[in-house]
Amino acid sequence: MISREELRKLASFECRHPGELAISFYFKPTTAHDKSHREEAIVAKDVIRKTMQELQLNGRNREALNDLERILQLAERLHGNQARAKAVFACSTSGIWHEFDLPTVAASTKLYVNRRFHLKPLVPVFSEYPRLWVALVDRQRARFLDIQFEQFREHGVLMNPVPRHGRSDGYAGYDAGHSERHEENDFRRHYQLVAEFLKSGAEKKQFEALVIGCHDVNWPELQGQLHPYVQKKLLGHFSADFNTLTDAQAKQEAERILQESLQRHHENLIREAIEGAKSNGLGVTGLRRVLRATEMGEVETLLMAADYTARAVECTACGHMDSHMVPYCPLCGRATRQLNDVCEALVPAAIKNSIGMVLLPRDETLDRVGNIAAILRFRADRNTNQLLAAS
Ligand SMILES: [Zn+2]
Repeated sequence: MISREELRKLASFECRHPGELAISFYFKPTTAHDKSHREEAIVAKDVIRKTMQELQLNGRNREALNDLERILQLAERLHGNQARAKAVFACSTSGIWHEFDLPTVAASTKLYVNRRFHLKPLVPVFSEYPRLWVALVDRQRARFLDIQFEQFREHGVLMNPVPRHGRSDGYAGYDAGHSERHEENDFRRHYQLVAEFLKSGAEKKQFEALVIGCHDVNWPELQGQLHPYVQKKLLGHFSADFNTLTDAQAKQEAERILQESLQRHHENLIREAIEGAKSNGLGVTGLRRVLRATEMGEVETLLMAADYTARAVECTACGHMDSHMVPYCPLCGRATRQLNDVCEALVPAAIKNSIGMVLLPRDETLDRVGNIAAILRFRADRNTNQLLAAS
């Protein structure tokens, strides 16, 4: 799996030499039952062969041809049950060859050949797959499951067998009220231990998001013990019986809650960006304003439709991106180069500058604002105006 650091390195790469090409290959295994894995490899090989023909690569691109041959060989091996989604980034002129297994984020098997690596399909890997813990809790026991990408393992277990205060000693009738109070204290103590375990996990950054499975009757008391820092990471809880719930069911419930939570989160983000733009606050919409805000260092989170593309230009000297197809850079006057898709330059720029990025399904709201928007950390012009007003 790819790390943020590896992603940043890929985003920083740009071809500088004549004939040099950055090749990005995404392989998506099909899930339909009637498609054999063999067929997936054939699709992959077709995509590669077609690109080789289209590009009419010649002797000048010998190294790129070698990279494509190597990807073709890899595609031939991509069959059998173990076939997972995969990404390959290659530029042998600069000694780059990286293969990554991915959660199934790529929309389809595709090959991109450009000046920079095509990184947009990797955006959801970081925005939609938080390291997730599922805590399964009853009044005496707790299990902590760790889900990252499609991997799933048990992180820890807490067992607090409650001592049977006086229950079995024949004085049950006499001592009942007393032992119940004892038990209540023991249960509370157990929830405190669970809460402590979660707090420690959150502080050690062992998880970014949390889902809790427990009986509904126990939920209020358990929730009451959770540290505010843990509460912030809590996506939701589901009703579960500790004894009968399987790990597979726990994973399924957690993923359902994660999806619902992501959808709400995305709806809030787009609303925030649009309202911010309308009020001249901390939001902008449309490519021109988004590019400007990105260059000003104002952007906190970039939002775009998953299939967003737009033509633009970038300056060959200062890197300025412009939504107007101008031949010369309005900032430094040097020649610009055309970008068939602004994302080829914008996505790496965002990754390099640690800007958050979220890809959204297309909808009417997003469509009305040009399918691209951003949430800002600050507005440079406002600060300048405030400074002017103050002086
Ligand atoms: Zn320029």
